Amino acid sequence: MDKPIYIHDCPSCKFLGLTECDGKVYDLYFCYHKMSMHPTVVARYGNDPFEYTSGITFGIIGDHHKALGDALRLALKNKEYKEFIDVRVMTFEQPVYQKMYLDIVADMCEKGEINGK
Ligand SMILES: [Zn+2]
Repeated sequence: MDKPIYIHDCPSCKFLGLTECDGKVYDLYFCYHKMSMHPTVVARYGNDPFEYTSGITFGIIGDHHKALGDALRLALKNKEYKEFIDVRVMTFEQPVYQKMYLDIVADMCEKGEINGK
């Protein structure tokens, strides 16, 4: 199992793994706090507090930011995380992003990366 390479002190973040994007290595996290209805994915690329990017919507768009797309797909492999993300996307996202999200889930089901249940 990979380990994070940068300092990250958010107590709500669960490490997902590493990815490489534009010549940089990113630490990927799923961030969720029970008091919040807004789980998110995080991609950190340095030790300074501002050296990260985050957002489920950016993860859905994917080509906008591949690291966040990778984080979203890794998070969806975890059944518990996927349930939080499903609620978040189907409650708060615009229909166009909901459709893109369902396409990602369908693609992952097809590849056997998640089961459809
Ligand atoms: Zn966090």
